[in-house]
Amino acid sequence: MGQECIFCAIASGKVQSRIAYEDEDVVAFHDINPQAPVHILVIPRKHIASLNEVSNEDLQLLGKLLLVARDIAKSEGISEGGYRIVLNTNRGAGQSVFHIHLHLLGGRLFSWPPG
Ligand code: 5GP
Ligand code: ZN
Repeated sequence: MGQECIFCAIASGKVQSRIAYEDEDVVAFHDINPQAPVHILVIPRKHIASLNEVSNEDLQLLGKLLLVARDIAKSEGISEGGYRIVLNTNRGAGQSVFHIHLHLLGGRLFSWPPG
């Protein structure tokens, strides 16, 4: 898994990225192709391909991804103005990297429904 997966490579430091936060479970880094003034990806170090592959033992890990996103939103100054968390699952929703990740987007207005 680790060798082929770009996000595993980022999490282990083999591929360089602009890290926003990291701990023993979670890594957050700036998206290479940002879609908003703030666009950060929050991932577990554990390789999970998508939300479809999550198991009950990942319950706490998934919750942690959201809490990390909340804290980064605050430190990036987008908590009050508003931000969007996106979790694309499979091709039909636009998932292109098959290591589960939250998009944290902020710093501009977002329309609804999303495209
Ligand atoms: P998805 O389309 O799977 O929901 O999101 C994948 C995201 O990963 C995209 O927004 C894309 O720009 C970003 N991305 C893909 N490869 C890299 C990379 O090597 N480094 C960084 N920082 N972001 C990446
Ligand atoms: Zn991976």
